[in-house]
Amino acid sequence: MKTFCGRANPTTGSMEWIEEGEDYDYHQEIARSRYADMLHDKDRNVKYYQGIRAAVSRVKERGEKAIVLDIGTGTGLLSMMAASAGADFCYAIEVFKPMANAAVKIVEKNGFSDKIKVINKHSTEVTVGPDGDMLCRANILVTELFDTELIGEGALPTYEHAHKYLVQEGCEAVPHRATVYVQLVESRRMWSWKKLFPVHVEAEDGEKILVPPSEMENCPGVPSVCDIQLNQMPSSDFSTLSDVVKMFSVDFSKPVQSASTYYRVQLEPVKSGKAQIVLSWWDIDMDPSGRINCSMAPYWVKPTSALQWRDHWMQCVYFLPHEEPVVQGEKLYLTACRDEYSVWYSLQKVRADEEEHKADVCVESPVCRCRAHLLWNRPRFGELNDQNRTCQYIKSLRKVLKTDSVCLCISDGSLLPVLAHYLGAKQVQCMQPSRIHLFHPHELWQAFFKANHLEDKIKIIEARPELLKPSHLEDKKISVLVGEPFFTTSLLPWHNLYFWYARTAVSTHLASNVTVLPQSASLHMMIVEFQDLWRIRSPCGTCEGFDVQTMDDMIKDSLNFRESREAEPHPLWEYPCKSLSEPQEVLTFDFTKTVPQHCLSTEGSVKLLWKGKSHGAVLWMEYHLTADISVSTGLMQLPNEKGSCEWNPHCKQAVYFFSSVIESEILSDPTAVTYAINFDTKTGEIAMDFKL
Ligand code: SAH
Repeated sequence: MKTFCGRANPTTGSMEWIEEGEDYDYHQEIARSRYADMLHDKDRNVKYYQGIRAAVSRVKERGEKAIVLDIGTGTGLLSMMAASAGADFCYAIEVFKPMANAAVKIVEKNGFSDKIKVINKHSTEVTVGPDGDMLCRANILVTELFDTELIGEGALPTYEHAHKYLVQEGCEAVPHRATVYVQLVESRRMWSWKKLFPVHVEAEDGEKILVPPSEMENCPGVPSVCDIQLNQMPSSDFSTLSDVVKMFSVDFSKPVQSASTYYRVQLEPVKSGKAQIVLSWWDIDMDPSGRINCSMAPYWVKPTSALQWRDHWMQCVYFLPHEEPVVQGEKLYLTACRDEYSVWYSLQKVRADEEEHKADVCVESPVCRCRAHLLWNRPRFGELNDQNRTCQYIKSLRKVLKTDSVCLCISDGSLLPVLAHYLGAKQVQCMQPSRIHLFHPHELWQAFFKANHLEDKIKIIEARPELLKPSHLEDKKISVLVGEPFFTTSLLPWHNLYFWYARTAVSTHLASNVTVLPQSASLHMMIVEFQDLWRIRSPCGTCEGFDVQTMDDMIKDSLNFRESREAEPHPLWEYPCKSLSEPQEVLTFDFTKTVPQHCLSTEGSVKLLWKGKSHGAVLWMEYHLTADISVSTGLMQLPNEKGSCEWNPHCKQAVYFFSSVIESEILSDPTAVTYAINFDTKTGEIAMDFKL
């Protein structure tokens, strides 16, 4: 079956209809899934196996048959572990059809078909009885339904149901329990992902300070989890205000309640400071004794044990509703509220008279009231708060603006119009072309302008570039066209080339001597060796002795589903890599001219100058604001002599994984990688091919 899906092309902005087979979604899901990463997670796999063996032994020692329920079996791995450990029978439940099919194949290939029954259902649909999916209730419950926030994938309702209907009372559970840990910190860097800091602008007539409206100051933000590779956050970027505290535990061997609730702990700050952020992670005990423990604790908590790298489980950053000054040794309550799927935090000060009957608990989940958190995601907040970056824009605007400038800004949720006004442009208007706004951002801008007394200074044009009329511009021609460029629809770095298409669409409104800022953009590329990220695309072969090649093949098929393999976005500050080649400029885009009709293509070769494994190419954009001022969305400076790279912390870079890895060895005669890169100006897509 084929369906047509309409979407706005992220680069060209035009509406297009794409024919999608019904396979499309599931190929995407598998290609981008974390199954490979889980299978590479040795620490997790070994501990699950130990826990499963111990649970089967305990049941056998009681003289019972071991009947296993494995909810969310994926590849069938945990059921195969149970069968090998001597379980009498396993019911392996998997809701995602392609995975259930793969599990059947993998189970068969490993010779467990008589011990494991794969059931392609959601666990809450599974029936028990003589004619049911399961003949009887199980006495061992095995699952791996956790995300970085522990409960975000629905573990609680699934456990609640399983205890009511699918397992025996007093069953064994692997994992046996999960515990959530928290630590209170102050961090300007992380706080800048939630709040807009005042922006200082040195103007002709003195310093101007752009401030957020009060609604934004008091807004609790959005409930979606902020999960990051906390191990990549240098200790200089935050300061811990409390010890690590156990926030709550869930015992999976007993009935589980999923209904909303809260947990509260008392804290005494170990240091005075501004409480802004709660960092959180969890661990799971695979057995009741707690001897088989799998932990997500970051580097500073367990500095002696080797850290297992994993991408399917990271750590969480929670933003307190307000910044709260705290004093070393004072008594505080930290409250974790949760519903079925998410957790949020608040901090209360304990006054002496309140100690006994605890203060009110806020149980309301954070909902953005100011709309800024709907317009800007967390990295975008970070980018707007990046004072260095703002300085580059201010410097370049100062160069191009004159007192009679008629300025149009095309970018989503940009502060450039305000900067242009402060820096003396006569007339400033802005356009925010993205189509996927769930709300009208104009109200936010109105509040923003009002807070800064700019209501009548900046005009918002509510038309798309191709519908711009002279009347929108008060019949004037645009003398300065600016953009960051940034658009919320962009996924890959070059999608922001939409600015070029918008510029082309408004061509007739541009003065003959128009200045376009940025004047051009360039695409850059570098070959790298990843410290760990390679795992997410690397075949697994066998996992703890089980043949899971079927899964490897399935991922490979899905990756090759579209004829040309595609680059994928990753925030590389979280995924360290080493450069193996010099960074190279591969394409340039001249914004002073309109988008050409013909394709832009290039071919060439890069030398692998350093020893290492070439996992792939990283690509990013640089914007040349003026002749001598550029901003990079990728590499922030040339790699040092060891090849370590510093990436723009607010942007995702494009990663093109090579289908095979080569090891460069000889430095005197460097290997070359040849490439062909083509930017199709009609579709806005960049196709690339590399030969090693
Ligand atoms: N057990 C495997 C895979 C874990 S990934 C392993 O440890 O390697 C979790 C899987 O559970 C996913 O494939 C997801 O589709 C499935 N899943 C999640 N909740 C489920 C539920 N309630 N019923 C059935 N399958 C579920």
